[in-house]
Amino acid sequence: MADIAAQLEAVRRRILDAEQRAGRSAGSVALLAVSKTFDAAAVRAAHAAGQQAFGESYVQEALRKREALADLPLVWHFIGPLQSNKTRAVAEHFDWVHGVDREKIAQRLSEQRPTQLPPLQVCVQVNISDEASKSGCAPADAAALCRTVAALPRLQLRGLMAIPAPVDDGNDARAPFQQLHALYEQLRADGLPLDTLSAGMSDDLEAAVAEGSTLVRVGSAIFGARPRKRAGTP
Ligand SMILES: *Cc1c(COP(=O)(O)O)cnc(C)c1O
Repeated sequence: MADIAAQLEAVRRRILDAEQRAGRSAGSVALLAVSKTFDAAAVRAAHAAGQQAFGESYVQEALRKREALADLPLVWHFIGPLQSNKTRAVAEHFDWVHGVDREKIAQRLSEQRPTQLPPLQVCVQVNISDEASKSGCAPADAAALCRTVAALPRLQLRGLMAIPAPVDDGNDARAPFQQLHALYEQLRADGLPLDTLSAGMSDDLEAAVAEGSTLVRVGSAIFGARPRKRAGTP
Protein backbone atom coordinates (compact mmCIF):
# COMPACT_ATOMS: atom_id res chain seq x y z
CA MET A 1 0.00 0.00 0.00
CA ALA A 2 1.22 3.49 -0.78
CA ASP A 3 2.13 5.66 2.17
CA ILE A 4 -1.36 7.03 2.60
CA ALA A 5 -0.61 9.05 5.72
CA ALA A 6 2.26 10.90 4.01
CA GLN A 7 0.28 11.51 0.82
CA LEU A 8 -2.70 12.74 2.80
CA GLU A 9 -0.40 15.14 4.61
CA ALA A 10 1.01 16.38 1.30
CA VAL A 11 -2.52 17.04 -0.02
CA ARG A 12 -3.42 18.92 3.16
CA ARG A 13 -0.30 21.04 2.64
CA ARG A 14 -1.29 21.76 -0.99
CA ILE A 15 -4.75 22.87 0.16
CA LEU A 16 -3.28 25.09 2.87
CA ASP A 17 -0.83 26.69 0.41
CA ALA A 18 -3.63 27.29 -2.09
CA GLU A 19 -5.81 28.84 0.61
CA GLN A 20 -2.98 31.17 1.60
CA ARG A 21 -2.18 32.19 -1.97
CA ALA A 22 -5.87 32.98 -2.52
CA GLY A 23 -6.04 35.02 0.69
CA ARG A 24 -8.56 32.58 2.14
CA SER A 25 -8.51 31.47 5.76
CA ALA A 26 -6.88 28.18 6.68
CA GLY A 27 -9.47 25.44 6.88
CA SER A 28 -11.99 27.08 4.55
CA VAL A 29 -11.62 24.21 2.06
CA ALA A 30 -12.71 20.73 3.15
CA LEU A 31 -11.03 17.59 1.85
CA LEU A 32 -13.08 14.67 0.56
CA ALA A 33 -10.89 11.58 0.13
CA VAL A 34 -12.06 9.71 -2.97
CA SER A 35 -11.57 6.04 -2.17
CA LYS A 36 -13.28 4.46 -5.20
CA THR A 37 -11.43 1.32 -6.39
CA PHE A 38 -9.33 1.24 -3.20
CA ASP A 39 -10.07 -1.29 -0.49
CA ALA A 40 -11.31 -0.92 3.07
CA ALA A 41 -7.76 -1.15 4.42
CA ALA A 42 -6.82 1.99 2.47
CA VAL A 43 -9.81 3.85 3.93
CA ARG A 44 -8.85 2.63 7.39
CA ALA A 45 -5.31 3.95 6.92
CA ALA A 46 -6.62 7.36 5.83
CA HIS A 47 -8.98 7.46 8.79
CA ALA A 48 -6.11 6.62 11.15
CA ALA A 49 -4.33 9.65 9.66
CA GLY A 50 -7.28 11.88 10.54
CA GLN A 51 -9.56 11.71 7.48
CA GLN A 52 -13.32 11.31 8.06
CA ALA A 53 -15.09 12.04 4.78
CA PHE A 54 -14.83 9.61 1.86
CA GLY A 55 -16.18 9.71 -1.68
CA GLU A 56 -17.33 6.70 -3.69
CA SER A 57 -18.59 6.37 -7.27
CA TYR A 58 -19.76 2.76 -7.55
CA VAL A 59 -22.70 1.76 -5.36
CA GLN A 60 -22.01 -1.96 -4.90
CA GLU A 61 -18.34 -1.41 -4.15
CA ALA A 62 -19.21 1.34 -1.67
CA LEU A 63 -21.74 -0.80 0.19
CA ARG A 64 -19.23 -3.61 0.67
CA LYS A 65 -16.68 -1.14 1.98
CA ARG A 66 -19.15 0.54 4.31
CA GLU A 67 -19.98 -2.79 5.85
CA ALA A 68 -16.30 -3.61 6.42
CA LEU A 69 -15.83 -0.18 8.04
CA ALA A 70 -19.02 0.01 10.09
CA ASP A 71 -16.96 0.38 13.29
CA LEU A 72 -15.57 3.77 12.15
CA PRO A 73 -17.45 7.11 12.34
CA LEU A 74 -17.06 7.97 8.64
CA VAL A 75 -19.04 10.35 6.45
CA TRP A 76 -19.84 8.93 3.01
CA HIS A 77 -20.36 11.00 -0.14
CA PHE A 78 -21.70 9.50 -3.36
CA ILE A 79 -19.96 11.28 -6.26
CA GLY A 80 -20.70 8.96 -9.19
CA PRO A 81 -23.25 9.39 -11.95
CA LEU A 82 -26.76 8.77 -10.65
CA GLN A 83 -29.23 6.65 -12.57
CA SER A 84 -32.75 5.99 -11.30
CA ASN A 85 -31.95 2.40 -10.40
CA LYS A 86 -29.26 3.54 -7.94
CA THR A 87 -31.16 6.18 -6.02
CA ARG A 88 -32.51 3.85 -3.32
CA ALA A 89 -29.11 2.51 -2.32
CA VAL A 90 -27.68 6.02 -2.30
CA ALA A 91 -30.61 7.40 -0.26
CA GLU A 92 -30.27 4.60 2.28
CA HIS A 93 -26.51 4.40 2.68
CA PHE A 94 -24.88 7.77 2.03
CA ASP A 95 -24.73 11.07 3.92
CA TRP A 96 -24.08 13.26 0.86
CA VAL A 97 -24.67 13.05 -2.86
CA HIS A 98 -22.91 15.30 -5.40
CA GLY A 99 -24.34 14.17 -8.73
CA VAL A 100 -27.95 15.36 -8.69
CA ASP A 101 -28.60 16.78 -12.15
CA ARG A 102 -32.34 16.39 -12.77
CA GLU A 103 -35.63 16.71 -10.91
CA LYS A 104 -36.66 13.10 -11.22
CA ILE A 105 -33.48 11.94 -9.43
CA ALA A 106 -33.98 14.51 -6.68
CA GLN A 107 -37.58 13.42 -6.14
CA ARG A 108 -36.66 9.75 -5.94
CA LEU A 109 -33.85 10.45 -3.46
CA SER A 110 -36.22 12.39 -1.22
CA GLU A 111 -38.93 9.70 -1.37
CA GLN A 112 -36.42 6.96 -0.67
CA ARG A 113 -34.47 8.67 2.14
CA PRO A 114 -35.31 6.73 5.34
CA THR A 115 -37.10 8.92 7.89
CA GLN A 116 -34.84 7.83 10.75
CA LEU A 117 -31.83 9.33 8.97
CA PRO A 118 -31.04 13.05 8.73
CA PRO A 119 -31.85 14.66 5.38
CA LEU A 120 -29.54 13.67 2.52
CA GLN A 121 -27.05 16.49 1.85
CA VAL A 122 -27.18 17.44 -1.82
CA CYS A 123 -24.94 19.20 -4.30
CA VAL A 124 -26.46 19.89 -7.71
CA GLN A 125 -24.09 18.94 -10.51
CA VAL A 126 -23.57 21.57 -13.18
CA ASN A 127 -22.11 20.86 -16.61
CA ILE A 128 -19.80 23.83 -16.70
CA SER A 129 -17.75 22.73 -19.69
CA ASP A 130 -20.85 22.32 -21.82
CA GLU A 131 -19.90 18.92 -23.18
CA ALA A 132 -22.81 16.88 -24.47
CA SER A 133 -21.33 13.64 -23.08
CA LYS A 134 -20.85 14.78 -19.48
CA SER A 135 -23.48 14.64 -16.75
CA GLY A 136 -24.68 17.73 -14.95
CA CYS A 137 -27.48 20.19 -15.62
CA ALA A 138 -27.00 23.19 -17.88
CA PRO A 139 -25.92 26.29 -15.91
CA ALA A 140 -29.15 27.98 -16.99
CA ASP A 141 -31.17 25.19 -15.32
CA ALA A 142 -29.27 25.18 -12.02
CA ALA A 143 -31.49 27.70 -10.23
CA ALA A 144 -34.70 25.77 -10.91
CA LEU A 145 -33.14 22.47 -9.89
CA CYS A 146 -31.73 24.01 -6.69
CA ARG A 147 -35.20 25.30 -5.81
CA THR A 148 -36.67 21.83 -6.37
CA VAL A 149 -34.05 20.24 -4.12
CA ALA A 150 -34.50 22.90 -1.44
CA ALA A 151 -38.26 22.23 -1.37
CA LEU A 152 -38.02 18.44 -1.04
CA PRO A 153 -38.59 17.26 2.53
CA ARG A 154 -35.86 14.63 2.87
CA LEU A 155 -33.11 16.53 1.06
CA GLN A 156 -30.98 19.42 2.23
CA LEU A 157 -29.56 21.61 -0.51
CA ARG A 158 -25.89 22.34 0.16
CA GLY A 159 -24.26 23.50 -3.03
CA LEU A 160 -22.97 22.97 -6.53
CA MET A 161 -20.58 20.39 -7.93
CA ALA A 162 -18.74 20.30 -11.25
CA ILE A 163 -16.12 18.27 -13.06
CA PRO A 164 -14.57 20.57 -15.66
CA ALA A 165 -13.17 18.97 -18.79
CA PRO A 166 -9.40 18.40 -18.55
CA VAL A 167 -7.62 21.50 -19.80
CA ASP A 168 -5.34 21.38 -22.83
CA ASP A 169 -1.99 23.08 -22.61
CA GLY A 170 -2.48 26.77 -23.01
CA ASN A 171 -6.05 26.69 -21.73
CA ASP A 172 -6.82 28.57 -18.58
CA ALA A 173 -7.33 25.95 -15.86
CA ARG A 174 -9.14 28.49 -13.72
CA ALA A 175 -11.75 29.60 -16.27
CA PRO A 176 -14.32 26.81 -15.70
CA PHE A 177 -13.97 27.12 -11.92
CA GLN A 178 -14.43 30.86 -12.21
CA GLN A 179 -17.67 30.33 -14.16
CA LEU A 180 -18.89 27.85 -11.57
CA HIS A 181 -18.06 30.23 -8.74
CA ALA A 182 -19.90 33.08 -10.45
CA LEU A 183 -23.00 30.88 -10.80
CA TYR A 184 -22.73 29.84 -7.13
CA GLU A 185 -22.54 33.46 -5.97
CA GLN A 186 -25.44 34.40 -8.22
CA LEU A 187 -27.64 31.67 -6.74
CA ARG A 188 -26.67 32.72 -3.23
CA ALA A 189 -27.50 36.33 -4.05
CA ASP A 190 -30.89 35.05 -5.25
CA GLY A 191 -31.47 33.60 -1.79
CA LEU A 192 -30.63 29.93 -2.24
CA PRO A 193 -29.00 28.51 0.92
CA LEU A 194 -25.73 27.24 -0.56
CA ASP A 195 -22.58 26.73 1.52
CA THR A 196 -20.67 24.16 -0.52
CA LEU A 197 -18.82 24.50 -3.80
CA SER A 198 -17.57 21.00 -4.66
CA ALA A 199 -14.78 21.50 -7.20
CA GLY A 200 -11.19 20.44 -7.70
CA MET A 201 -9.46 17.06 -7.85
CA SER A 202 -5.87 15.75 -7.63
CA ASP A 203 -4.65 17.59 -10.72
CA ASP A 204 -6.47 20.88 -10.43
CA LEU A 205 -7.24 21.55 -6.77
CA GLU A 206 -5.07 24.71 -6.72
CA ALA A 207 -7.07 26.29 -9.55
CA ALA A 208 -10.34 25.32 -7.85
CA VAL A 209 -9.30 26.74 -4.47
CA ALA A 210 -8.18 29.96 -6.17
CA GLU A 211 -11.70 30.22 -7.56
CA GLY A 212 -13.68 29.67 -4.39
CA SER A 213 -14.02 25.89 -4.00
CA THR A 214 -15.03 24.90 -0.47
CA LEU A 215 -14.60 21.15 -0.95
CA VAL A 216 -12.01 19.35 -3.06
CA ARG A 217 -12.48 15.71 -4.07
CA VAL A 218 -9.07 14.06 -4.11
CA GLY A 219 -8.38 10.43 -4.96
CA SER A 220 -5.14 9.48 -6.68
CA ALA A 221 -2.96 12.05 -4.89
CA ILE A 222 -3.89 10.31 -1.62
CA PHE A 223 -4.35 6.65 -2.53
CA GLY A 224 -2.17 6.29 -5.65
CA ALA A 225 -2.99 5.61 -9.28
CA ARG A 226 -6.27 3.79 -9.91
CA PRO A 227 -6.41 0.69 -12.09
CA ARG A 228 -7.81 1.54 -15.54
CA LYS A 229 -11.59 1.38 -15.54
CA ARG A 230 -12.96 -1.90 -16.87
CA ALA A 231 -14.88 -1.55 -20.10
CA GLY A 232 -18.58 -1.17 -19.43
CA THR A 233 -18.37 -0.03 -15.83
CA PRO A 234 -20.06 3.30 -15.23
C1 LIG B 1 -12.61 9.90 -9.20
C2 LIG B 1 -13.21 11.22 -8.92
C3 LIG B 1 -12.48 12.21 -8.23
C4 LIG B 1 -11.04 12.05 -7.79
O1 LIG B 1 -10.19 12.14 -8.89
P1 LIG B 1 -8.59 12.19 -8.70
O2 LIG B 1 -8.12 12.73 -9.98
O3 LIG B 1 -8.14 10.80 -8.44
O4 LIG B 1 -8.30 13.08 -7.55
C5 LIG B 1 -13.13 13.40 -7.95
N1 LIG B 1 -14.40 13.62 -8.31
C6 LIG B 1 -15.13 12.70 -8.97
C7 LIG B 1 -16.53 13.00 -9.34
C8 LIG B 1 -14.55 11.49 -9.30
O5 LIG B 1 -15.28 10.57 -9.98
